[in-house]
Amino acid sequence: MHGFTRRGVLQGCACVAAAGLVGGCVTTNRATGDTSFTGLMSIQDDIELGRREHPKLVKQFGGEYENPRLQSYVDRLGRRAAEYAEYQEFPYRFTIVNSPIINAFALPGGYVYVSRGLLSFASNEAELMGVISHEIGHVNARHTAERLSTAQLAQGLLLLGTVATGSRELADMGGGIAGLVLQSFSREQEFEADTLGIRYMARAGYDPDAMASFLATLREYSQVHAQILGRDPSSVDETNLMATHPRTIDRVQRARAEAVGAAPGATLVNRDPFLSQIDGMLYGDDPAQGVIDGELFKHPDLRLCFRAPETFTLLNSPDQVTGFSPDREATILFDGARVPEGRSMAAYLQEDWSGPQIALSDLEPITVNGMEAATGWARLLSREGPVDLRGVAIRFEGERVYRFRFITKPSATDRYSEPLRRTTYSFRKLTPEEAAAIRPHRLIVVPIQPGDSIAGLSRSMPHGQYNEAMFRVLNDMAGDRPLPNSGLIKTIVS
Ligand SMILES: [Zn+2]
Repeated sequence: MHGFTRRGVLQGCACVAAAGLVGGCVTTNRATGDTSFTGLMSIQDDIELGRREHPKLVKQFGGEYENPRLQSYVDRLGRRAAEYAEYQEFPYRFTIVNSPIINAFALPGGYVYVSRGLLSFASNEAELMGVISHEIGHVNARHTAERLSTAQLAQGLLLLGTVATGSRELADMGGGIAGLVLQSFSREQEFEADTLGIRYMARAGYDPDAMASFLATLREYSQVHAQILGRDPSSVDETNLMATHPRTIDRVQRARAEAVGAAPGATLVNRDPFLSQIDGMLYGDDPAQGVIDGELFKHPDLRLCFRAPETFTLLNSPDQVTGFSPDREATILFDGARVPEGRSMAAYLQEDWSGPQIALSDLEPITVNGMEAATGWARLLSREGPVDLRGVAIRFEGERVYRFRFITKPSATDRYSEPLRRTTYSFRKLTPEEAAAIRPHRLIVVPIQPGDSIAGLSRSMPHGQYNEAMFRVLNDMAGDRPLPNSGLIKTIVS
């Protein structure tokens, strides 16, 4: 089972893929020279799909990061790389999404995204160029079109409709195209995107070695991040660049070696100009959207929190919080609704939320930390077979109701029953003091002064005992490299 998000997400593309089934053909790609089966989608389809999905994707990843100066800088860089792309008919557009995860992605038709988190961990303009160029590579190789063009996928998309008819809420379960974008490309596709990306960045004058150096930073980040979460350092965060773009430094170097000679004299790195652009940007979660702290979700404005089972990965988006078990056999969806006062949670759960097509079993009123609530479950049919859905609705205050949907594979329902029950009962109100203690963090760029130390410069960071480790990742100081005597350095303050 791939988790609901992915399937739900694909719904948005159903009509494009399905319509394409009628007139599929084989075409030669101008960037890769491949004759691949992207015939289900024309260039115009790519553009249409990108245009339609763009607002949903941006929303799913926290909205646009409101920083016009930085936004126009990224757009300028992106356009410089896109000048060398094979498909000039795509309306290239570059967006910073307000998400602390470190990732970059693209939609068909020339829509390219980098996360705020990625910008904090890049060291210079060349590294950012490498990331953007790689995404332009995917766009030009038309990898998403390849993915959408398989008949099997199209069929899956159509079948999905049958699960979703039960209620509109269930249809929204996946929450946008994010899941599709969060699926990983194949190693061949990654190699192709690297080869193309190196071509574009080198022609724009940027040192192509930056592509590998950013990957090295990301690997170090993953290791420290895993330690912070108390996880196996070899486990990869499902949402970061390594998971969605599976690459190794060796393969990137091979792509670079093969591209050598494409543009000799591509030596631009531009560290200081890059650092001055990101100086002052938000770091980590934006408290206005809620904060994820390991398995804990806290929202200072809404004054609520809950804890997912240990080892679950939480993902925040403006509409909902999604959680996944490491084996992907259990998914949590958390969101809010408005329900008139006086309507019982049990009646709401059965009659309004689930709808008449879904008969809930074991519907019962419960109390969650003093709040009126109700729960019930149903077995539903999905494309990949049956799934168990448990719904929980909790009246928080006035008309404000919060809801959990716990989706498990039937074979995993018993195993996850107790941990997910604990999640339900962990839901509570934050005190004003707890809410006030959640503050935004900012990345600042400062000149190194005589007498500065790593311990001193990293003291204000939010990673506790891992402050020095994360400071090293932020500043390309792996291992025990000493602090330089001068120059600019990043740190985090609140
Ligand atoms: Zn990629």
